[in-house]
Amino acid sequence: MLIRVLGSAAGGGFPQWNCGCTNCRGVREGSLKALPRSQESVAISGDGERWFLLNASPEIRQQIESFPSLHPRAARHSPIAAILLTNGDLDHCLGLLSLRESHPLVIYATERLRRGFTEGNVLYRTLERTPEQVTWRALKPGREEDLGGLTVEAVSVPGKPPIHLEHAFPPDPEDGVGFKIRERGSGRVLAYFSGVAAVTDEIREALAGADCVLFDGTFWSEDELPAQGLGGKRAVQMAHVPIGGAGGSLASLSGLSAKRRIYIHINNTNPILREDSPERAAVVGAGWEIAWDGMEITL
Ligand SMILES: [Zn+2]
Ligand SMILES: [Zn+2]
Repeated sequence: MLIRVLGSAAGGGFPQWNCGCTNCRGVREGSLKALPRSQESVAISGDGERWFLLNASPEIRQQIESFPSLHPRAARHSPIAAILLTNGDLDHCLGLLSLRESHPLVIYATERLRRGFTEGNVLYRTLERTPEQVTWRALKPGREEDLGGLTVEAVSVPGKPPIHLEHAFPPDPEDGVGFKIRERGSGRVLAYFSGVAAVTDEIREALAGADCVLFDGTFWSEDELPAQGLGGKRAVQMAHVPIGGAGGSLASLSGLSAKRRIYIHINNTNPILREDSPERAAVVGAGWEIAWDGMEITL
């Protein structure tokens, strides 16, 4: 299985347009040892011909252009066979509306996510110009879907509805999912969990059998935003388990056997973005890597 990180940052990207935090300022000025990053999206393929996007970020056009394997091979063509969505947050879905050039799209998502994106959304009509423009395929937690050479199983993760739907829907187990993606031939497994509010037994089980884990690296600490004067929301209120601390993912996932363990969906405030920070040293010392735009993994 081929894995290419197209974007490795959380919503807002790094730097974020309206953010003057230490990290964003430093990366703009070039005074920080850190790489800029676009918003989270990953391309995967079993054969190098048909590709699947995990999430569709607002930066999808540049992300597709950044990776020649995703370029068209005919006058009207795309090697993107389908797009798989983890949740309805705009940093994961908004890119769909940029793929509006009358190209047939196949989208895998929970029924709940599909409804949240399509119902009452007048902009969605741009993807309904012909009846066959979008084919939705329902992901159901615990059920395996055949992608041809690869299979995907959605795993329910604790989360919340996207901000713009918080008042429309009560929280639901299908608000957010992670993926277990298996290559049929080799049996190798990628576990993709980029938005996780808490590490449940179900998630632990999914990660235990994986050869490569991509995991929620949004925040280092529970109070990362309030501590930097960036609003009052704590990590858990934004449905992200922090990396550090006693209840953090670094401690609670310390027993994983996966050869590659990689943090992705990293918020611009996170100190692990700074290559010379003690937090980054702690993560690397524990055997984890930090995703960057353009990172490639062959499983
Ligand atoms: Zn996100
Ligand atoms: Zn910032």
